[in-house]
Amino acid sequence: MLWDQGAAGGIELPVCRTISKILGMPVDLHNNQVIINGYNHGRDQHHATAIIDRLHTTYIRRFDVCDPVLLVTGADLYAGGSDFVFGLARRSYGAAVVSTARLHNGYYGRPDSDDDLIDRTSKECAHEICHLMGLGHCPDPECVMFKPETLDELDRKKKILCASCMAALDQVAGRGESAPE
Ligand SMILES: [Zn+2]
Ligand SMILES: [Zn+2]
Repeated sequence: MLWDQGAAGGIELPVCRTISKILGMPVDLHNNQVIINGYNHGRDQHHATAIIDRLHTTYIRRFDVCDPVLLVTGADLYAGGSDFVFGLARRSYGAAVVSTARLHNGYYGRPDSDDDLIDRTSKECAHEICHLMGLGHCPDPECVMFKPETLDELDRKKKILCASCMAALDQVAGRGESAPE
């Protein structure tokens, strides 16, 4: 996981630990060196696809990174026909981006809370990493792989994968029951 200096500061470690707990796998944390591009003046937003493209060419391909890479940024993101996205993953690149811009209570005029921000960022990051591992969306509104359209839908999710998504992750990660002897 690459943490950009423009992203919410001071929550990196708890977010990293929470993602690791949700997925049941270690998550490395690094300071981001990749330039956040794709700024659109008219929208005052960044194009998520442009950020992923740059992450791919200037980091993943350049340094031959094999593990999924997730960049956390403070830049507000859009993609495709959406007004905004919390995050976006491109599996073929092994790259994803998550924005903390709309995960703050302050964005919605509510009192800020680090706990809320850590919860939301962790769920969003775990969601995109699962996409990079090959998982799709889940109809269970409490599962991390449910696709939230609003902050309330993101908040309704629990910090867990449902049984079937966890089984799918176990399978792609090569975990689970060992073969009978
Ligand atoms: Zn998704
Ligand atoms: Zn699920």
